[in-house]
Amino acid sequence: MSTERAYLDDPFTFEFSAEITGQRKLGDGRTGLLLAKTYFYPTGGGQEHDSGTIGSANVIDVFADEAGDVIHVVDRDVNETEAQAIIDQTRRLAFMQHHSGQHLLTQAFQRIGNLETVSAKISIDSPSTIDLQTTQVGDEAIMRAEDWANSIIRQDRVVKSYWITDAQIPAVPFRRPPKVEGHIRVVEIDSLDYSACGGTHCTRTGMIGLVKVLRAERRGDKTRIYFYAGERAFQYLRACHTIVMKIAHEYDTNPEGILGALERQQEFLRTAQRELEDARAANTIAEARRLAESAEPFEGVRLVLASFRDRPAQELRTLASQMQGEPGLVGVLAAFDGSKISLAVACVVKVGVSANDLIRKQLAEINARGGGDARLAQGGGTTDEEHWRHIFDHSRNFVRELLANGKP
Ligand SMILES: [Zn+2]
Repeated sequence: MSTERAYLDDPFTFEFSAEITGQRKLGDGRTGLLLAKTYFYPTGGGQEHDSGTIGSANVIDVFADEAGDVIHVVDRDVNETEAQAIIDQTRRLAFMQHHSGQHLLTQAFQRIGNLETVSAKISIDSPSTIDLQTTQVGDEAIMRAEDWANSIIRQDRVVKSYWITDAQIPAVPFRRPPKVEGHIRVVEIDSLDYSACGGTHCTRTGMIGLVKVLRAERRGDKTRIYFYAGERAFQYLRACHTIVMKIAHEYDTNPEGILGALERQQEFLRTAQRELEDARAANTIAEARRLAESAEPFEGVRLVLASFRDRPAQELRTLASQMQGEPGLVGVLAAFDGSKISLAVACVVKVGVSANDLIRKQLAEINARGGGDARLAQGGGTTDEEHWRHIFDHSRNFVRELLANGKP
């Protein structure tokens, strides 16, 4: 005889005297207790297990084995044959609210758009989910489903569970035909929804309290609906409300004014961004001009060797590209952030030195990589302070060699 599952007919007993009929060492080393009769719900049917205590031990997992026995996994040995068992009531109630809420929401999607639920997961630590057999569920459909479900909650309809036999199946307007045989447990929401289900449920829809969909997410040919019910839904909405009020306060407005304020702020930021880019461009042009003015006359070209601490590679490149317009110029720009050197080289085509050739010579010294074309090249790599201090030591030689190679 397998364990009597008393939670099926009485989901409100949270404390009972447990008759321990056996102990089992599980494959993973944990201990499982067998009871003659249990009010602990074992994981199954899309609903997670209850937790609580039996005697001095914590019940950390509950599952049913193949024979139908309910195994109560405990964190320490229990030697008594009779012990007081207590079920975590808050956790159980949250499961009941989410499971009944799921049946209701599933029925709601069925009614508003003929959207069939193909699977469901009742969990309370993360949002519960239902998977609908459709690739798209619009915001309006979600709102209509929520509205219907919550109106049934407010009507405080009765939720019944009872047993039928196979022969009685045709007489029950099941949402989906039952997959089990023999004795079938029906969970009925007051002539609105009939499901074959072994879960723990609220006894009236009012107990569900509230159903709130959080989001819809396409998954292959299905759409997953995430939702909260009951206490969890309320806590979620309260947290959202707190955030909204804080944002409204920051914007010095009310919740209704947030979107307008956000739009104005974005417009302001776009303008500021444009102005900043213009200012940066003007700065770079001015800086490139200053560097060119400080160029050293060298073998018939104007040579610029400039180094910077902590300057992004992108900035070096922009600066180098501005220098391309300076007559007779060969510019090597380098930046170091403590571990990485960035280089950018600009050469005016007429001088006969290729930026690409010059940067390759520079980078070969630090085993780094990079490249570009005759006018502009960039690159860099990881190196140390020692290399950085000597980064320009051979630059003049490189330029001289390249000039010599370039001559007919
Ligand atoms: Zn169910």
